[in-house]
Amino acid sequence: MSYHSRLLPHKLLKQLSTFGIGGPAKYFIEISTIEDMQGLIAFCAKEDLDYLVIGKGSNCLFDDRGFDGVVILNKISFCKFQKEQVHVGSGYSFSLLGVQTARKGLSGLEFASGIPATVGGAVYMNAGANGQETKDHLLEVSFVNERGDVEILSRDQLSFSYRTSSFQKRKGAIVAATFALKDCPEARKKQLTIIEYRTKTQPYGEKSAGCVFRNPLEGSAGALIEKSGLKGQSMGGAEVSSLHANFIINKEDAKAEDILSLAKHVQEKVKQSLGVDLEMEIRCIPYSRK
Ligand SMILES: Cc1cc2nc3c(=O)[nH]c(=O)nc-3n(C[C@H](O)[C@H](O)[C@H](O)COP(=O)(O)OP(=O)(O)OC[C@H]3O[C@@H](n4cnc5c(N)ncnc54)[C@H](O)[C@@H]3O)c2cc1C
Repeated sequence: MSYHSRLLPHKLLKQLSTFGIGGPAKYFIEISTIEDMQGLIAFCAKEDLDYLVIGKGSNCLFDDRGFDGVVILNKISFCKFQKEQVHVGSGYSFSLLGVQTARKGLSGLEFASGIPATVGGAVYMNAGANGQETKDHLLEVSFVNERGDVEILSRDQLSFSYRTSSFQKRKGAIVAATFALKDCPEARKKQLTIIEYRTKTQPYGEKSAGCVFRNPLEGSAGALIEKSGLKGQSMGGAEVSSLHANFIINKEDAKAEDILSLAKHVQEKVKQSLGVDLEMEIRCIPYSRK
């Protein structure tokens, strides 16, 4: 079937984001193999269509008007273990990978358990927790570039920093990743401790996109927001979580605008009371990028 006939119109992005916010995508498609991703990206280049690859939408704030291009839901989800290495499709659940590796007594990805991401989204964002980051045990990444060709990139060809990767400057799709882990009988115990702490300290049942702001040099953004007396503050349908102040939750049919206004209010108040600048961590996806 041609890509023309596979592109579905008007898929609501609120159904594809953990915030539960976002209008319709002009076109929507699900991709489950690397070859199909190559074909689709080459097609989009030829047709001059903007596209956005997403995983679980757990770090995205979509526009209320939607997205004026192709939203590609990445479902490339194989997972192959070879001794202490794991080669995994970028649509595979990062959280599940954290649990499975720990169960096998492999250490390095325990922190992933409970992060509601795909492996591709975690690499793209260099997701992290508990003092560990996705880059730490990454060996190589397979990437479909803007022409639709696969590039195999070793760790030293890539750059990462706090919630940032070199992929954020490129057009294309991360399609697979290989991690090199270490044998460790304590891995499962460590992973269970992490998940237990997470579920106690983060608003898991609520609609959110995780931490809204990056931690500044002055300390934890959550602690600074709490210190500024902002826990529980709301605007429209958006609310600063009373459990974890760096989470803004979609409490009641929030619009993207409600989240953004509340985030701006938090930035202003923290600057006023503590003199600290907070920078957004979540990715705000505009309606149009042309
Ligand atoms: C309850 C909760 C807890 C969270 N806890 C943490 C935490 O502890 N640590 C942390 O770092 N984050 C956390 N997050 C945020 C989020 O899970 C991470 O940023 C995660 O890496 C996003 O992955 P995703 O697959 O959902 O990406 P998406 O949100 O779908 O996409 C995020 C960005 O990555 C791009 N992208 C995604 N997949 C690909 C791909 N295959 N190729 C190219 N680009 C791609 C998208 O275009 C977008 O710009 C949390 C979120 C929630 C809701």
